[in-house]
Amino acid sequence: MSDVQTAADVRALRDAAPRARTDVPVIIRAILGAMRVTLRNLFRKPVTVHYPDKQRAYPDRYRGLLALVYDKETGEEACIGCRLCEYVCPPAVIKVEMLKGEKRNYAKTFTLELYACEFCELCVQVCPTDAIVMMKSFDLSTTDRRELLLDKDKLHAIGRQFEQSWATGNRLRDMQGPPKQARAVEHKEAAGV
Ligand code: SF4
Ligand code: SF4
Repeated sequence: MSDVQTAADVRALRDAAPRARTDVPVIIRAILGAMRVTLRNLFRKPVTVHYPDKQRAYPDRYRGLLALVYDKETGEEACIGCRLCEYVCPPAVIKVEMLKGEKRNYAKTFTLELYACEFCELCVQVCPTDAIVMMKSFDLSTTDRRELLLDKDKLHAIGRQFEQSWATGNRLRDMQGPPKQARAVEHKEAAGV
């Protein structure tokens, strides 16, 4: 059995020898091709950005850090403590306590464990008052995960520090609904106009 194998091996080696010789130009061409790519990149201007000293501009539709914002008209906290974001959050990283007021409600406490957030944006999508939004930044890296347990004050501070993304709950819900023109026709039909 071992003799057969040995003879087969010898035959295979004999057959492979001429093939290896014909492969030589192919191998040389491949090496030269790879060297050409290396040489071209050796003299190309580097594209590395020395973050955080230098920062790239974020794309228009970039959405990163979560934050709480104030109502632009009244200047009050926009959050009404309704807890919809808490209910919808898949990994359950939001906790809200509602504080009832005479004219409106507020969030008495609001915590968000950013280290476990999936950045799915569902909390933004359900917020009726556009109070929780995403910022055009991811700039909150730290070696201490406790710093990523964000309370209400920290979330408002992030809202003041960074530029807000375009995506608010109302805009996102508008995008998901039928086009406005179609809705207008539906309303007219329903009203028998
Ligand atoms: S982005 Fe998603 S995972 Fe993160 S807090 Fe909002 S709902 Fe929760
Ligand atoms: S952030 Fe929005 S959804 Fe969450 S509790 Fe406040 S108002 Fe409700």
